[in-house]
Amino acid sequence: MIKYKLFCKNCDLKFDSWFASSNEYERLKKRNLLTCHKCNSVKVEKTIMAPQLINSKTKIDEKTNLEKYNKVKKTIIGYQKFIKENFKFVGDNFAYEARSIHYNGKKKSKGIYGSASKKELKELKEEGIDTQMITWIDENEN
Ligand SMILES: [Zn+2]
Repeated sequence: MIKYKLFCKNCDLKFDSWFASSNEYERLKKRNLLTCHKCNSVKVEKTIMAPQLINSKTKIDEKTNLEKYNKVKKTIIGYQKFIKENFKFVGDNFAYEARSIHYNGKKKSKGIYGSASKKELKELKEEGIDTQMITWIDENEN
C-alpha cells in the first residue's frame, strides 16, 4: 500500500488517498477514476513537492559526506603508504614486538606497525611504551 497526498486543481483541496501501488495510481488516473472528494473534479494530481525536497536534500548530504570521506580516506592512505615504506609489519605480534624493542633496548632503524587490541595498547601504555593508533583502510575495499 502506498499513501499519496492528492491535490485538486479545481478546488484546491488536499487529501490523502491509499493505493495498492504507484501503478494503480497511474491506472486510475488514466481512466479518470481519481476524483476530488469535495467537487468531484477529475483534475486531481499527486502532490510531489515535499518528497522531492527531501530527496534532493538527502542527495546533497550524501554527496558532502562522500566528499569528506574520500578526503579523509586519501589522507589515511597517504599515512599508510608512509608507514608501509618506513615501518616493519608485524601483524598481530605488535604488542610482543613493541615490548621486545622496548625491553631489549634495540634501536632498530625501522619502527613497527601491526594490529593490537585495546587491552594490549592499554598495557603497553602502562609499561611506558608509546604507541600511536591510526585508522587503517583496506585499500582493496570499494
Ligand atoms: Zn476539488
